[in-house]
Amino acid sequence: MARITLDHIRHAYGPKPSSPQDYALKEVHHEWNDGGAYALLGPSGCGKTTLLNIISGLVTPSEGRILFDGTDVTQLPTERRNIAQVFQFPVIYDTMTVYDNLAFPLRNRRVPEAEVDRRVRDILEMIDLSSWANRKAQRLTADQKQKISLGRGLVRNDVSAILFDEPLTVIDPHMKWVLRSQLKRLHRQFGFTMVYVTHDQTEALTFADKVVVMYDGEIVQIGTPAELFERPSHTFVGYFIGSPGMNVLPAAVDGSAVTIGAETIQLDYAPNIGSAKKTELGIRPEFIRLGRDGMPIEVTKVEDIGRQKIVRARFSGHPVAIVVPEDGEIPADARVRFDPSAISIYADSWRVGRE
Ligand code: ATP
Repeated sequence: MARITLDHIRHAYGPKPSSPQDYALKEVHHEWNDGGAYALLGPSGCGKTTLLNIISGLVTPSEGRILFDGTDVTQLPTERRNIAQVFQFPVIYDTMTVYDNLAFPLRNRRVPEAEVDRRVRDILEMIDLSSWANRKAQRLTADQKQKISLGRGLVRNDVSAILFDEPLTVIDPHMKWVLRSQLKRLHRQFGFTMVYVTHDQTEALTFADKVVVMYDGEIVQIGTPAELFERPSHTFVGYFIGSPGMNVLPAAVDGSAVTIGAETIQLDYAPNIGSAKKTELGIRPEFIRLGRDGMPIEVTKVEDIGRQKIVRARFSGHPVAIVVPEDGEIPADARVRFDPSAISIYADSWRVGRE
């Protein structure tokens, strides 16, 4: 298993990058622990696949180095990196049987046949394809083919890391849940370093110990699911994680006083906004208390989503979302309080602390 160091990686697909916008990866500098389960989360085009391919060796970064356990592997080809990779679309050998597809990576490494058999049968059971072992792979559905692809990544237990690029996209929702918990169990059992690319926040949050959020070619936050929810370090993380996402309101900060339109909120600290051009207040919809006291608000719409209600409203001229429990009251002349400990202040989109 390996500790993965991304040492000042930048990557441009074009020949002569001249501005930061020419880079698919602008600057990635991080170390991922041995045996960690990381989810790489971000919107389409933010650079997740590029970063994954740099780790596996399919792409050589334009700048920077990649190290496994301190050894520079930047110029090593994929086959010498000891990495298993599972792609969004299944890569399998159609003319081989299901069994032989799974045995292939082991036989390639000259694993004794008895050991191959034991491991292949374990995996077949895990992916629920035991009764298909002797069928030709071409006869399987897309869903089953992807299970084989996953199985091929898992069957080797000597890998430094397993990289998954949205592997469950083609799997039906129930099987997705099953495979996700099986992956989690195997990870605990074997302790391989696992990097799992997804744009689905639920998948990332349920599966990973640490979620790596990418936006526009950069890693904007690495944290536990709770940290991302409670203390988003960038307004993008606030919007992207949570449903609905965090409310981000333009705010003027003067010492510990934060003013949004006509309303001023007193914090118990003075945020260090430096010489920021833009300052904003962030608060999650779950931490706005709707009641009869506090600041005025105009409710425009209530969406009942079963266990909760989402209230859409205007606060001091800005749209906000508020999450109210199913039995929560929404008075006609509703007012709001913001839980001060749940307020974050952002300077030029980055969360700031105390002065
Ligand atoms: P998705 O979730 O859609 O796969 P992603 O987050 O994985 O997106 P990448 O595929 O890494 O993002 O793409 C990052 C940027 O690099 C995008 O602007 C994309 O258009 C560009 N890009 C990716 N691959 C290539 C390539 N082979 N040649 C040129 N540009 C590329």
